[in-house]
Amino acid sequence: MPYVGRFAPSPTGLLHAGSLVAALASWLDARAHGGRWLVRMEDVDTPRCVPGASQAILHQLTACGLHPDEPPAYQSQRGTLYQAALDRLIAQGQAFPCGCTRQDIALAWGEQGQARARHGELIYPGTCRDGLRGKPARAWRLRAEPGLLHWHDRRLGPQQQDVAQAVGDFVLKRADGLWAYQMAVVVDDAAQGITHVVRGQDLADNTARQIMLQRALGLPTPVYLHTPLVLGANGEKLSKQNGAQALDLSDPMSALNKAAQVLGLPQSAPQSRVQEALMAWCDMRQSGDQGGAIQRAG
Ligand code: GLU
Repeated sequence: MPYVGRFAPSPTGLLHAGSLVAALASWLDARAHGGRWLVRMEDVDTPRCVPGASQAILHQLTACGLHPDEPPAYQSQRGTLYQAALDRLIAQGQAFPCGCTRQDIALAWGEQGQARARHGELIYPGTCRDGLRGKPARAWRLRAEPGLLHWHDRRLGPQQQDVAQAVGDFVLKRADGLWAYQMAVVVDDAAQGITHVVRGQDLADNTARQIMLQRALGLPTPVYLHTPLVLGANGEKLSKQNGAQALDLSDPMSALNKAAQVLGLPQSAPQSRVQEALMAWCDMRQSGDQGGAIQRAG
């Protein structure tokens, strides 16, 4: 089976130690499988994007020896593809317009609201499923059919989620007219022929929604692997939001060694050059665990 992998950063800031783990893992996995590796700039959420960050990220990847096999794709230029997918879902009766504000959703749950929140976001109560009842359309949502969805993660093992229960009908196009992450990622993974998704564990929870959307659009489901997270001093996931430092490009080998350690790979000799270290890690992956996990959980 041909292998096509990808790294899909959001240019809302520079790469840090946590994002390098995902970048290195996806690059190594693609190389160890003799596959191709693409970079996709997930710049759909334009208000959160930082000017110049896409170029700076590409520069960081180059400094770390992680070269993509094709020029990067930019989601901000791919709206026509997302619209075609939405049109198809509307025609199939699987997407519906929603007129609810956040406040409407909170009111619909009333007292139960607290119990129905997940990651700070309220589960959609299904208010506009059967029509807008005179409200203007704000967003578009996918009709989430109830039932457990099962999949296998190469590192985390068997996974399951009932999307209807856990999230509800989720947003495909936002009230501000921007495309939702789920829509853009599913359409692009298929359009770019991605066979293997390797990304941070913080994104694992999105997988069921993405598989549901792939099925609704008749698209193939890639193989998933979610990499361990790097925690900051406060024990929380290292992120741009909690002030993670951008990678120090004066010493890419040290940054790569730290990322490799998180992935359970041995340290590379301090004097070794970036490209040699990357190839050594690839060889190790090839001779060791062929198809599977970079490192098992636990
Ligand atoms: N753009 C997402 C992020 O930077 C990653 C999306 C993905 O890999 O599916 O968190």
